[in-house]
Amino acid sequence: MSYQLTIEPLGATIEVEDGQTVLDAALRQGLYIPHACGHGLCGTCKVSVCDGEVDHGHANPFALMEFERDEGKTLACCCTLQSDVTIEADIEEEPDAQLIPVRDFATTVSRIVDLTPTIKAIFLRLDRPIHFQAGQYVQLAIPGIGESRAFSIANSPASVEKTGEIELNVRIVPGGKGTCYLHQSLKAGDPLTVSGPYGRFFVRQSAHKPMVFMAGGSGLSSPRSMIVDLLEGGWPLPVTLVYGQRSKDELYYDAEFRALAATHSNFTYVPTLSAEADGSGWPGARGFVHEAAKAHFGAAFAGQQAYLCGPPPMVEACIGMLMQCRLFERDIYTEKFLSAADAGNARSPLFKRV
Ligand SMILES: Cc1cc2nc3c(=O)[nH]c(=O)nc-3n(C[C@H](O)[C@H](O)[C@H](O)COP(=O)(O)OP(=O)(O)OC[C@H]3O[C@@H](n4cnc5c(N)ncnc54)[C@H](O)[C@@H]3O)c2cc1C
Repeated sequence: MSYQLTIEPLGATIEVEDGQTVLDAALRQGLYIPHACGHGLCGTCKVSVCDGEVDHGHANPFALMEFERDEGKTLACCCTLQSDVTIEADIEEEPDAQLIPVRDFATTVSRIVDLTPTIKAIFLRLDRPIHFQAGQYVQLAIPGIGESRAFSIANSPASVEKTGEIELNVRIVPGGKGTCYLHQSLKAGDPLTVSGPYGRFFVRQSAHKPMVFMAGGSGLSSPRSMIVDLLEGGWPLPVTLVYGQRSKDELYYDAEFRALAATHSNFTYVPTLSAEADGSGWPGARGFVHEAAKAHFGAAFAGQQAYLCGPPPMVEACIGMLMQCRLFERDIYTEKFLSAADAGNARSPLFKRV
């Protein structure tokens, strides 16, 4: 059984299977609706139901409040149809966006590499080629728990095409169902299912502006894919990566970024450590990402585009700093690594643009 879904202002009508979410149906048919966590936590995919009946599914009560339900709002990532429905979504024209339909992929774990004491690189061999824009993510079905988790693709599209593998950089979250499984039980040879690509965290080359990437923890994954893609593609304008970790032993792909900076005169790499012991001999920046970025640029960000990726508090701190330094929303793009722990903090889910 299926229903008809009309998406305004696109005016497109698609089939939605009984029990399929609106977001899943739209993305699989090449229609974009803004989204982020994919699990009813953040509210980025909020749409208005203009006509017809929906079931809100497991939308978090903070992400979709009672009065919003009364006003006819729903979350596209959780809602299913009870009749033919028309929705209205806030869809911006994006000249740099490629419309790539979401697909399922059967994968095999080819290897797992310890990048730091808390982050593993998981390499997944795909059953068929995936097309994606650098910076996008996949949903990985976690065996045994019937849930999936979002992980950004850490290697560039060219590397994925050449090797047939996507690389995910997974930080263990204490008490986290998905990441504890991936760190403690997953082994080479295991099968895993992923779907993707998702998200709109990709570079806007058409604006032709210098780019500054700010990343923390495993939030290096998307920027790594984007920066390698830009530099391999001959992007001529300045690119800066400010990358924050707690300590030297948590700094990963450091040698790779130093080598890129040595071979690309337009690329600058600024690693910063927030909890490195005094007297350890670390010669680089100290402090949080937003502090190191502000110091590096002397608080002058005008004319750049900023791409922020990582834990929500890091992204919020960078947004605050950039706005104080007079870089505004239209030039700031974010990917927050939201998890169940952020369910009560649905305010400012992903900044306006993702
Ligand atoms: C777009 C996107 C891209 C991402 N990319 C990456 C990536 O490249 N690398 C990466 O490492 N991570 C990434 N993440 C984060 C990742 O998807 C997971 O959310 C994260 O790793 C935690 O998953 P988990 O299953 O281990 O934890 P969960 O089981 O989801 O729990 C997370 C935390 O919340 C707590 N918790 C659980 N339930 C509740 C509740 N009801 N209320 C309050 N707290 C609760 C848990 O104790 C734990 O501390 C990304 C997230 C998004 C949205």
